[in-house]
Amino acid sequence: QCYLSTATYDQVVPEGFKEVKDTVTGSEGKRIGPMGGIYSCLLQAKKDGLEGLFFTPCDAPNACAEMIRILMERIETADDALVYRSVDGKLQTVFAYYSVSCIPVLESEIREGHYKLARFLDKIRVRIIPTIEAGVSDECFLNVNTAFEYRDLTASLPPISLEDAVSFLRKSVSVIKETLQLPIDEALGYTLAEDIYAPIDQPPFPRSPFDGYALRSADTKGASKGHPVRIKVIGEVDAGGWFEGSVSSGEAVRIMTGAPIPQGTDAVIKQEETDYGEDLVQIFREMTFHKNYIFSGEDYTKGTLLLAKGEYLGPVEIGIIASTGCTEVSVYRKPRAIVISTGDEVIMPGERLAPGKIYDSNLYSIALQLRAWGCEVPAMLHSCDRPGECAGLIRDWTGKVDFIVTTGGVSVGKKDIMHEVYSMLNISRIFWKVGIKPGAAMMAGTYQDTLVLSLSGNPYAAYINLHMLVREVLAELTGNPALAMIRQKAVLMDDYDRQSPIRRYIRCYVENQKVYLEGHTGGNGDIASGRHINAILELPAGSGTLKSGDEVTVLLI
Ligand code: AMP
Ligand code: MG
Repeated sequence: QCYLSTATYDQVVPEGFKEVKDTVTGSEGKRIGPMGGIYSCLLQAKKDGLEGLFFTPCDAPNACAEMIRILMERIETADDALVYRSVDGKLQTVFAYYSVSCIPVLESEIREGHYKLARFLDKIRVRIIPTIEAGVSDECFLNVNTAFEYRDLTASLPPISLEDAVSFLRKSVSVIKETLQLPIDEALGYTLAEDIYAPIDQPPFPRSPFDGYALRSADTKGASKGHPVRIKVIGEVDAGGWFEGSVSSGEAVRIMTGAPIPQGTDAVIKQEETDYGEDLVQIFREMTFHKNYIFSGEDYTKGTLLLAKGEYLGPVEIGIIASTGCTEVSVYRKPRAIVISTGDEVIMPGERLAPGKIYDSNLYSIALQLRAWGCEVPAMLHSCDRPGECAGLIRDWTGKVDFIVTTGGVSVGKKDIMHEVYSMLNISRIFWKVGIKPGAAMMAGTYQDTLVLSLSGNPYAAYINLHMLVREVLAELTGNPALAMIRQKAVLMDDYDRQSPIRRYIRCYVENQKVYLEGHTGGNGDIASGRHINAILELPAGSGTLKSGDEVTVLLI
């Protein structure tokens, strides 16, 4: 039987485990530490008819089954507990075996307010096993207590693949369902939440595509410049007007572009193909039935599905809605995000530049790109390299936005605070480190259902994180297919003399399937070389140097 001792946090109980809540509290209602967990689990073990339990702390990543096997071999009936002593002489009291026979002693210790396992061990029959003798490495007892210990432990783990990172992020959000009704002129950039069917024919009446004369095509038989046909002009109709009455054989009506074609006529001759006659017009050309005749409903007919739910509303789409006569449209609310830049060295534009400081550029380029992608960004914030400050900002905005983007502090330096921020808030980490260059140090997690995306601080690395990962989150939230980058093959026009052991992304300019790197290959910290980009060149892991003329893959942004 496997138990999982849980305390304050909501923990995921893996399959096959029974959750045993540690409800033991000492004076002032405080939790008493490992002793409480051991006690509550032993009570459960007794209920379940077990003799004892092997305990292992959940934050000891190197603990292994072999350690338990060694303890099992040594248990004797007289033992209340089996405990390892490591090389430094320390008793490893949590990774140990305890028998249900310990329960009465534990009870009296807790009752008297003694919560130290070392003291309790003095009162029971303990077999102490030196790790050297057992052949267990002291490394096995290492446990993780701080964000930095966790960071160092995981620093050596391989990064996850970009595909996995994208898939984890996409799974952690879902498409926005809340809708609102907006006047169409305010709906730009929103996603349509209803199907739009045509309530009318467009155009609503047959109309003329030119300025000319509406007539019966049969009347123009044999007409040419040399042998014009003369037809009587009986009236005029302008765009917006309406010709009352019907036109008979041998008659024409002067007509303007967009005007309704009068009853009785079946074609329109351009005025350039006539003598512009007022009462009598000379026709220089034979017309066919329905020549220059725009049918009613030629653009769309009543009942046609014009725009489907989920479509992105650009200027053209809003024009289509306007053409139906609608003034309002139901849309999904926009995704919302805030951006927090971090760094003691980073100051806001407008402030006085002091030694050691730089102006914040990421905050602007990230927040404004999000807005350009149709995301609302209600706040652009900055935090110094104090984990508490950054954590406070995240806490303030959690639940009010769909995701929070931070930049900086994700690497392995002393001032890389995001590790500690995640740990302070107990942000559940989805990943740290993605197999891409630049931007490998990106971290992501969820804090009370709000996604936190922590991008690199280097402007170019942050840019790649933004396009390769944050963009995917927006695509998932909105279902907007326009956010997907188009992948295409193209020919490199410049040499690239670096190897790429890790999958690499390079800013570039693509035109007619030709890829230009010139001017865009600045370092990760460079800002100015990010101008005039329309694509990202993708080099697979293991690529060697490249020559002009090589075929490559680019992502159009
Ligand atoms: P970090 O990831 O915080 O170690 O920062 C990496 C580099 O990017 C450092 O040189 C920072 O000064 C720079 N940097 C960090 N944040 C920003 C920002 N918001 N704007 C411009 N540069 C930044
Ligand atoms: Mg920093």
